[in-house]
Amino acid sequence: MKQIAAVIEMLQKILPGQVVIDPDVLESYARDETIDLVALPDCVVRAQSAQDVAVVLKICNEHDVPVTPRGAGTGVTGGAVAVAGGIVLSMEKLNRILEIDARNLIAVVEPGAITADIQKAAKQHQLLYPPDPASLDTCSIGGNVAENAGGPRAVKYGITGHYVTGLEFVLVDGSIIASGGKYVKNATGYNICGILTGSEGTLAVITKIYLRLVPAPACSVDLLLPFVDLDAAVAAVSSLLQNGIIPATIEFMEQDAIRFVAAHLGQGMPCADAGAHLLLQVEGSTHPACHETLEAIVAACGIDGADVFVAQTALQQERLWKGRRSIREALREESPVLLAEDCVVPRGEIAEFLKHLKEYLRTRSLRSVMFGHAGDGNVHIDVLKDSMPTDQWKAMLPELKREIYRQAIALGGTITGEHGIGCIRREYLGMAKSPEEIELYRRIKHAFDPRGMLNPGKIF
Ligand SMILES: Cc1cc2nc3c(=O)[nH]c(=O)nc-3n(C[C@H](O)[C@H](O)[C@H](O)COP(=O)(O)OP(=O)(O)OC[C@H]3O[C@@H](n4cnc5c(N)ncnc54)[C@H](O)[C@@H]3O)c2cc1C
Repeated sequence: MKQIAAVIEMLQKILPGQVVIDPDVLESYARDETIDLVALPDCVVRAQSAQDVAVVLKICNEHDVPVTPRGAGTGVTGGAVAVAGGIVLSMEKLNRILEIDARNLIAVVEPGAITADIQKAAKQHQLLYPPDPASLDTCSIGGNVAENAGGPRAVKYGITGHYVTGLEFVLVDGSIIASGGKYVKNATGYNICGILTGSEGTLAVITKIYLRLVPAPACSVDLLLPFVDLDAAVAAVSSLLQNGIIPATIEFMEQDAIRFVAAHLGQGMPCADAGAHLLLQVEGSTHPACHETLEAIVAACGIDGADVFVAQTALQQERLWKGRRSIREALREESPVLLAEDCVVPRGEIAEFLKHLKEYLRTRSLRSVMFGHAGDGNVHIDVLKDSMPTDQWKAMLPELKREIYRQAIALGGTITGEHGIGCIRREYLGMAKSPEEIELYRRIKHAFDPRGMLNPGKIF
């Protein structure tokens, strides 16, 4: 306690106006979007430069004070929550979009920049930054890199890590390192950017990011396809991929997902009676080209004559995507407590995975809603607590999680596709990774952070 008080005093002197100790303000840094996880930090430092980050890390490391990096706090695994106390190092003020280099198709940004703002800035140059987590209006790019975030467009474009060409980052001893840059190929030494991507703030603090951009498609059309049930929807996904049709997104939703969203938003959703839906985005150089692909999609899915909803206007497109992005909020209205899982399986195994899991949950009398990124095998499984007594729910959770993970792994998948391990999955890491691989993680962690001061309690 003495140490932390001395450290806060030192930081207040070196970074005046950037150190927060007001308990009311600290309260808003005590959680991210993880259900049931709260830990009040001793103080928050709002860094404004890489040098600020270096000062904080060096002092904290020397005085054994834990540091938890934080982007926008939208994580769902507790990564930005200071579970070991100490300092939350917030990147919210380090948020400039430094450059959109249209000649080199590269964006240079600070970690606190909001993902949607980067996309808007790129769009002004007819360029696209494709990764699109559903939280893109509120999450930061630093958090995206630290979690290797994905989104609906992953099926065609890949995930955050596929776009990082360079990083500037700060080690716990305060050294600032730049690796990579505006070039898109790099065989020079170890792939440090790759190691930091998805490292959940446990190895270094990222202070600048170089991102690859791609030309923006001239046109896109969104469509909602109705299916009798989830099996039929998932079979259609395989058929699309096998026919070489790769839309920008292939999202699936169970009927309940659409039903709850319609109630939550207070607006009707198209094809609401169908047993399951696919939400696709088709890109092309012209509208007729998009519509040609659209016809090929309907044929490949075997749903000729079905009531396909094609969003013709920006408003209709926005309405469809708002619906998709609001699923979790809508579910939390239905049951404020729920288990939100994020497994990934090989694409061809989705139907099998969902069928067995659904059956298992039904035998336990648990309501579940499944949705997610059918095109890349990443399934969101939300199990609702409903009126189950809290004690019973909490006692049942570990076994329930284990069973969900066991089924995903048995089909050649893994326990999380985009949300990460954080603190809520760390005790299950050993189900997906061998002891030898986990030991290698520990050695990497030790090389970056020998005293274990950076984001303790996460991943391991
Ligand atoms: C409604 C909703 C929808 C979501 N949809 C998706 C989705 O589609 N796909 C997806 O992948 N995720 C999704 N998420 C989860 C979350 O938005 C992502 O994990 C996102 O990348 C977190 O970004 P953030 O800025 O909020 O990071 P935070 O929550 O602040 O932090 C996340 C992790 O990154 C670390 N970190 C943050 N900044 C840095 C930095 N500069 N240097 C080092 N470490 C850092 C933190 O320590 C922490 O471990 C969703 C969340 C919500 C609430």
